[in-house]
Amino acid sequence: MFAIKVKFQIILFKFNTSVEIYTNANFIMKIGVAYFANRILRHVKADMQKLKRLGFDFVVHTFSEFDFQFHHHNLQDIVKVSQDCGLEVYLDSWGVGNFFGGEPFSDFVTKHYRDGCQVLENGEPVFLACPNSPAFQNYMIEWTQAAIAMNTTGIFWDEPHFNSPDYLKGIKGHWSCRCSFCQQKFHDLYHYDMPLIENEEVHTFKQNSLASFIQQLGRLVKNAAMKNILFLTANLPPQQAEKDWQTFAQMIEIDSLSTGYYWTFAGTKVEDTAAYALILRELCEVSNKEPLYWIQNIKIESGREKEIELAIELVYTSGIRNFALWGFESGVHESWLACDNPQRAWRLTLKKFQQLKAQQ
Ligand SMILES: [Zn+2]
Repeated sequence: MFAIKVKFQIILFKFNTSVEIYTNANFIMKIGVAYFANRILRHVKADMQKLKRLGFDFVVHTFSEFDFQFHHHNLQDIVKVSQDCGLEVYLDSWGVGNFFGGEPFSDFVTKHYRDGCQVLENGEPVFLACPNSPAFQNYMIEWTQAAIAMNTTGIFWDEPHFNSPDYLKGIKGHWSCRCSFCQQKFHDLYHYDMPLIENEEVHTFKQNSLASFIQQLGRLVKNAAMKNILFLTANLPPQQAEKDWQTFAQMIEIDSLSTGYYWTFAGTKVEDTAAYALILRELCEVSNKEPLYWIQNIKIESGREKEIELAIELVYTSGIRNFALWGFESGVHESWLACDNPQRAWRLTLKKFQQLKAQQ
């Protein structure tokens, strides 16, 4: 894709570095949205038709453990009806093993508390699957094969992570993972026992463990001629994100790198969105991957809905043209996630996208 560089400089928020702003004149803007909670086909069909009419290009359907166990065929039908409406479909590893981001509960961690979960540095197991455990690796191969069988455009790997208080199931004040598999692997690589303090080598080991885990699964997806999108957490300062994300940019299995800074969760301001968008766009440019930016469209307080428009504008200005929303109709169907005024939030969001698309 040909991109035109506009030669002027801006200062990144919180940064002392400068970058070029891009206008991707020939880049087609694509917008998508996460869709979840509803598994009733006729309602899904009506929603998918509406999304298409509103100008959406793709939908991300969540494929939780609950779906995997009980709704597999319903989801297959949902994929089909979405594609029939003219939408590209991606499946999201939402909350699987509590290792991927999201609210769903995990049955895997209940069954594999002793042989598949992460262990804190104090020896306590936690309800988060470990990417170095054979039990979780095997489970995710089965999940991936089931996802591939649905013949979608691709898989969305949703924020894989070790223990962190920034996630719903995270434990404050501790790090993971010191399970027997991680300790053994660390010792094999570094030739000393994994320390109780998370030093630089432990941090690198963890990043590489996440990458290696996704790489194995991503290879299955690529062999099926489907795409891999990887969501990288923005639950860290921009400087750290810029450093940590490098590991994943080198993965040839990944077609698209993605992130999204949810400023109200972080208790900061919407303007901070710009730094993450710029880092993502630059990283994708260097690694020849497509950037996809998720816009927070949930948990926005009444009166602050225009911040969504500003977030979209900041990301657009960074040069990114692939947008996704979390989530459908500003989360109206999930009270914990919903914006205070979801109708207004959704209306302003659509208006902003339509305005930008008209500029294309
Ligand atoms: Zn482990």
